[in-house]
Amino acid sequence: MKFPEIREQVVRMSVMLADHGFFAATGGNLALKVDAEHIAVTPSAVDYYQMGPDDVCILRLRDLAKVDGERKPSVETGMHAKVLQARPDCAASIHTHQPIASACTLIGKPLRVTGAGPRELLGDNVPIVGYAPSGTSWLSKKLAKALRPDANAYLLRTHGAICCGTSAERALQAIVALEALALDYLRGRIAARAALLPQEAALQRLLTTLNTELVRDMVL
Ligand SMILES: [Zn+2]
Repeated sequence: MKFPEIREQVVRMSVMLADHGFFAATGGNLALKVDAEHIAVTPSAVDYYQMGPDDVCILRLRDLAKVDGERKPSVETGMHAKVLQARPDCAASIHTHQPIASACTLIGKPLRVTGAGPRELLGDNVPIVGYAPSGTSWLSKKLAKALRPDANAYLLRTHGAICCGTSAERALQAIVALEALALDYLRGRIAARAALLPQEAALQRLLTTLNTELVRDMVL
């Protein structure tokens, strides 16, 4: 088996992400750079709690030709390859269906990052990538167009998120920071909506009064 250490790292990271609810069942996947020319990718449709180092695929980054491993690589390998090809500074790419950031993908707006720590990990903005079905080259091409050298996290419309980092640890930290940012964003929207409710009630009363007066005018 080639590159056993990095394959074991892929297994450890996948279990950790599953333990924290960022990966669910076989949903979510990741890629680590082995060196400038190779990546280690999670296999397609394998339960992360059953996965062993042998199941991890080693691919050539340039054209995704298989170098080692029996399994079929993740259907989202194309997305990871686009990230790691476009970002030679990055060593890891993680795609999740993490619950709160995924909820934000339904709203479909980019997220503005606040705070020095989150900005250092994520960049100033989290772009939103337009919808395309998961596992398609259409999706990886849309992501490729959205990639920027200063953005390490992306929301995928009505799907999930993808984060990258200069190391596996930094990519994991970006995933956690994105979830916290998404929570703040949703809380902000709920608070803004709650603040509007009294105004909406007042507007409703005004409309009722106007309607009543209008009817009276029409009758009299
Ligand atoms: Zn997905």
